[in-house]
Amino acid sequence: MTEKKKALLLLSGGLDSTIALVMMKEHNIEVEAVHFTSLFCTCGGKGGGCGPASKVAEAAGIKLHIVGKGEDYLEVVKKPEHGRGSNMNMCIDCRIYAFRKAKELMKKIGASFIITGEVVDQRPMSQHKKTMLLIEKEAGLKDLVLRPLCALSMTETIPEKEGWVDRAKLKNISGRSRKEQLSFAEEKGVKDYSCPAGGCLLTDPQFARRIKDLLENKPEFDSKDVALLKYGRHFRLDKDTKLVVGRNKAENEVLEQFKPEKSYGLCLEDFNGPFSILAGSNAGKYIELAAGITARYGDVEDKSKKVRVSVKDLLTGNERIVEVMTAKDADFMGALL
Ligand code: SF4
Repeated sequence: MTEKKKALLLLSGGLDSTIALVMMKEHNIEVEAVHFTSLFCTCGGKGGGCGPASKVAEAAGIKLHIVGKGEDYLEVVKKPEHGRGSNMNMCIDCRIYAFRKAKELMKKIGASFIITGEVVDQRPMSQHKKTMLLIEKEAGLKDLVLRPLCALSMTETIPEKEGWVDRAKLKNISGRSRKEQLSFAEEKGVKDYSCPAGGCLLTDPQFARRIKDLLENKPEFDSKDVALLKYGRHFRLDKDTKLVVGRNKAENEVLEQFKPEKSYGLCLEDFNGPFSILAGSNAGKYIELAAGITARYGDVEDKSKKVRVSVKDLLTGNERIVEVMTAKDADFMGALL
């Protein structure tokens, strides 16, 4: 009997990677899993982990490594070598990044190969056979990525050639339909999966507009800049200056925690309304406009009268009151991102 090998599974917690895990039970393989989180992930659970992936790993009794895509991932977001998809997603470079990180972990835990739940031709950018092979090659994992769901459509990998896994037990699924996966899941009683494809803000058109704007106006942006893009309405006032206006109480509370450089926090003195952040090197020039926009989104009863707005320097804590008219949509809507 062949020596038992260890493999590292890329586990999203979605249907396909869960099925890949279930399929590997039929082979003499020890599996550990890795789940990647990032600032752009929309399905992460509290504490930086991902609920669905943790649930799947726990149910299977396997060790789960949670790896956050760090500041180095932002460099990939800024300059992807293989281009972008329909929005700001750069799926090929993103997969190369993840595979490289997985390779490091694979070595660290003494695993011999990688397993993924990928299905050939399922996604437009990164899941064509040629691209899948390019990704594994660029990550230094040529022939070391086993894709149990579509292995029979792919070239034979080292784990198959070496007899670590039985190729006869692997599948030949392709395309976007999930029919085969769903019937396999039903047959095996697999229920605890979720978080399907699409939990990435880089594929979201509105978020993509914001990140594109950041890339154009602050190309050296960092994770704090990205975090701020997730909340509020964003207005580009000039190349160096932006206004972010909370859309509800929860967003106001989150925005109050941000303290970008050279920034002011604005809120209405006499009415309920948003918390706004005016940030950038020219922020001082736009205080009246920002106060007027803040009033526009507040519960101001009589818009023919001036409104008192508190303006706090978020660095020094100095606060003052300005009195402004509520801004008219025509005066600022062109700046909305
Ligand atoms: S959708 Fe987002 S997370 Fe998924 S591969 Fe593309 S860029 Fe990466």
